[in-house]
Amino acid sequence: MKCPFCRRGIFSVTDTRTNNGGFPIRRRRRCSRCGRRVWSVEVMEENPLHVIKKDQSREPFDRTKILRGLEKACYKRPVSQEQLEELVSRIEEEIYRQYDREVPSRAIGELVMRYLKEFDQVAYVRFASVYREFKDVSEFVEEVEPMLNRKR
Ligand SMILES: [Zn+2]
Repeated sequence: MKCPFCRRGIFSVTDTRTNNGGFPIRRRRRCSRCGRRVWSVEVMEENPLHVIKKDQSREPFDRTKILRGLEKACYKRPVSQEQLEELVSRIEEEIYRQYDREVPSRAIGELVMRYLKEFDQVAYVRFASVYREFKDVSEFVEEVEPMLNRKR
């Protein structure tokens, strides 16, 4: 790299130190022309994922919100906290696979429902009924009917 001070010399690395083999990595650099010496630091940075809410406002993605929603939906169901954590992790992975910087809150809700449907049907119906804010009964039945039919 070029020296940022004189802009002509080569800023070459003369030493590299890591934090126990990990980040941050510190590199000692020295300019071949002006002789300046600096430490440059390499850190890991993740693009924070943001959730776009219904009113178009944005907030940082927070897995504990999903967990809280699942806990409510699974209230008094034979489900352990570990299972819920595991479910959240699977949903979270899916979100990070599909979305880069922004994810609509609606998409998170749909994903939670998809995973919850396989996980616990009672919890699924509870979550769906709250999440979708059903306006009338027919909408609710539309959602529940395919599950009931499958049981017959
Ligand atoms: Zn220089």
